[in-house]
Amino acid sequence: MRNTDRAVGAVLGSAVGDALGAPFEFGLPGVFRERFPDGVGELCGGGGWDPGEATDDTQMAVLVGESLLERGGLDLPDIFSRFRRWAAADPKDIGLQTEQVLLGGDPWDLAASLHFQVNGRAAGNGSLMRASTSAVYFAARGRTATMDAGRRIAALTHGDGAAWEGTAILHELVRVALLGEDPLAALPATLAEVAPEHRERWARVLDPAWHPDDATEFNGAVWPCLGSAVWALRTTDSFEEALGAAVDLGGDTDTVAAVTGMLAGAVHGPDALPARWTSELHVPLPGSAGRILRSDDLRDLARSLAERGESGDELPGPPHE
Ligand SMILES: [Mg+2]
Repeated sequence: MRNTDRAVGAVLGSAVGDALGAPFEFGLPGVFRERFPDGVGELCGGGGWDPGEATDDTQMAVLVGESLLERGGLDLPDIFSRFRRWAAADPKDIGLQTEQVLLGGDPWDLAASLHFQVNGRAAGNGSLMRASTSAVYFAARGRTATMDAGRRIAALTHGDGAAWEGTAILHELVRVALLGEDPLAALPATLAEVAPEHRERWARVLDPAWHPDDATEFNGAVWPCLGSAVWALRTTDSFEEALGAAVDLGGDTDTVAAVTGMLAGAVHGPDALPARWTSELHVPLPGSAGRILRSDDLRDLARSLAERGESGDELPGPPHE
């Protein structure tokens, strides 16, 4: 399998996880298996979501991916202004912290840190959920560069360094998976690159002995969210099983499944994604004149990101006179 195929698996897998989990958001553990006792889940819709409709997780991932392609690299103010335009268009769902940071009126480079200073809590999972496109784009630049990009994009909306480090870890695990290697085997080397003050807490939730029941916070927080996604990948043998395990945990199901789908899609590849899911998937994009992306659009986006990321293009220079 080529790494561009795995990149499609990561981007499309995350979107499918988002759509699978959305109807179960804030539900109790076990509800998904109760609904689909034979283990074959469907994109069933519910809770305000149409069957196959992706939520803010995937919408924001698309915004990041399109910025990287159109700007030819990481343009943080551009990503922030795309986020802001989207947030102002009243998406069906938006994380509380993300909404406050984006619509608070502060400049892009201060908004998240000012919010963190006032609120003291900014370790939500909202920077993990949108990371598929940036993880695919920066993978070819190597471990240090992709982890750094993960941190910087996370910091646009999340002032807590725990969220930066979690996004950096996720970027790196996707990079390893795109190479056809085992991201679980890469955990020790990845943790060694985590900022020392955050390392121990991350090591705990990524340890093979950790179970989602051990979580000390709701899985809307960054640690149990990524910990649960890694657990779902570790304890299953297929894309479909991994996503079922993730959604069945309850809580912030769309985001835990979006992160799980990002990893499982990169590991198992795009052919492991059930066609009955990808055919139903659609991503409305508030603030973009009614655009709705389908699976083929996400495949194209993922391939372009993988190819352009590889070419190492940087910010376009000033326009020619
Ligand atoms: Mg969501």
